[in-house]
Amino acid sequence: MSDLYLKFVNTPVGKTAAQSLGLPSPVPLKRLQRPDQPFIEGDVLIGAGTGGKVVSTLGSILGASAANLHHAAGVDSLTDSAKAGNKAKALDLSQSVEQTFSALIFDATGLKNPDELRAVYDFFHPTIKKLTGNARVLVIGQNPSTCRKAPQAAAQQALEGFVRSVGKEIGKKGSTANLVRIAPGAEKQLDSTVRFFLSVRSAYVSGQVVRVGKSTAAPATSPVNPLTGKVALVTGASRGIGAAIAQTLARDGATVVGLDIPPAMAELQKVTDAINGKALACDITDKAAPKLIADFIQEHFEGVDLVIHNAGITRDKTLGNMPEHFWDMTIAVNLSAEEFIDEELAHRELLRENGRIVCISSISGIAGNFGQTNYSTAKSGVIGYVEAMAKQLKNGITINAIAPGFIETQMTASMPMTIREAGRRMNSLSQGGLPVDVAEAIAWYCNPASNGVNGNVVRVCGQSLIGK
Ligand code: NAD
Repeated sequence: MSDLYLKFVNTPVGKTAAQSLGLPSPVPLKRLQRPDQPFIEGDVLIGAGTGGKVVSTLGSILGASAANLHHAAGVDSLTDSAKAGNKAKALDLSQSVEQTFSALIFDATGLKNPDELRAVYDFFHPTIKKLTGNARVLVIGQNPSTCRKAPQAAAQQALEGFVRSVGKEIGKKGSTANLVRIAPGAEKQLDSTVRFFLSVRSAYVSGQVVRVGKSTAAPATSPVNPLTGKVALVTGASRGIGAAIAQTLARDGATVVGLDIPPAMAELQKVTDAINGKALACDITDKAAPKLIADFIQEHFEGVDLVIHNAGITRDKTLGNMPEHFWDMTIAVNLSAEEFIDEELAHRELLRENGRIVCISSISGIAGNFGQTNYSTAKSGVIGYVEAMAKQLKNGITINAIAPGFIETQMTASMPMTIREAGRRMNSLSQGGLPVDVAEAIAWYCNPASNGVNGNVVRVCGQSLIGK
């Protein structure tokens, strides 16, 4: 279902009409054109508060990029490679800034009390209006819950409010703002996360807070095919978000087993044939499904690296009018099946070392939704499942969730027009996301270098006004 309003407001007549009527004017989001595209281009400014701990890490990640690097005063520890190789130039923010930026990155990990938040203002105030369209704001902080002193926890928590408000201010130009909380000593785990949040791959991700923890040394991977040699299972892969996940993981080098219900086999086969994958007909709510899936994996690949629980259904009715099979089916597909499949794969030791499990929640699971008690219950349960499993999994296996907002698929195309239009506009970017936006976030979770990313729930929702 194409967004005709987005197209219209980006014509000269449409732009004028939207401006004079005070209507939203979403700009088209830039997305990946080719896999080997540089993760960031243009001019990038890096700043830091006193005691910033990741400046040199940022220097080495960005030093190898195609961006022109600039650094604010006090950012002296950008690595030599960044300074020399990428000519990081000092910029005096007390003078008027003429430069425009494709990204502003601030290392706030050293902030120890609310007074030091002034450094955040001093960095962003003169530069925020200098962002190009489709730009990125990225703040790196610490997890407030692990701060020993209350003033430090206050300053670190404050960054969340800051980033969420910035996202709302810059979204109208297609730009995003996100906060990464890094655990002490996890600098080496930052690479894939910084690359994701600075790149066009995170086009529809804004106002999010992500935790990166300490893990074993991240393996070196190719930026173009980081999933080479990996086997992925994607449920609900015949269309919509699932098809995009299958295509994106295959693009990144994985061999994909796509799964869907038997009536969707013709569609599924088209998707898997195009990516040299395998198709598996299976209703994940069948009692025999976990064994069937495990047998298939064992027979063809002897193991699986990436398990993406994407299959989902809605059966909307207000609670008093909801027949029991609507409740049962929705919980079974969206929640229970994931647990049973994971259990079987784990029991038969088919989920390999450094594996990845990704579950799909929904903003309905965070905020609740009228007529969706069953769906919201299931999708909220997914978050509980992910958070509990993240503490239990071993062998470098991680589990994370994506909570999509309004994504343009057959599921949302079947909504009544007014609800669909509200879903599209009620976010900072004033438009719906595309299936590939969810898929790109999943590819970031699946990257072998994302081994410090565990137990997160990231919303791919353009910073929807619904929920927190
Ligand atoms: P979709 O309806 O287009 O695709 C869902 C797929 O799951 C279909 O191919 C379907 O056949 C398959 N499926 C359903 N029941 C199954 C079963 N019992 N066994 C195996 N496969 C089954 O939906 P979508 O919009 O692509 O959504 C994908 C996921 O994202 C779902 O979990 C959905 O709840 C979630 N989600 C979507 C949106 C959105 O805006 N589209 C928003 C939030 C969350």
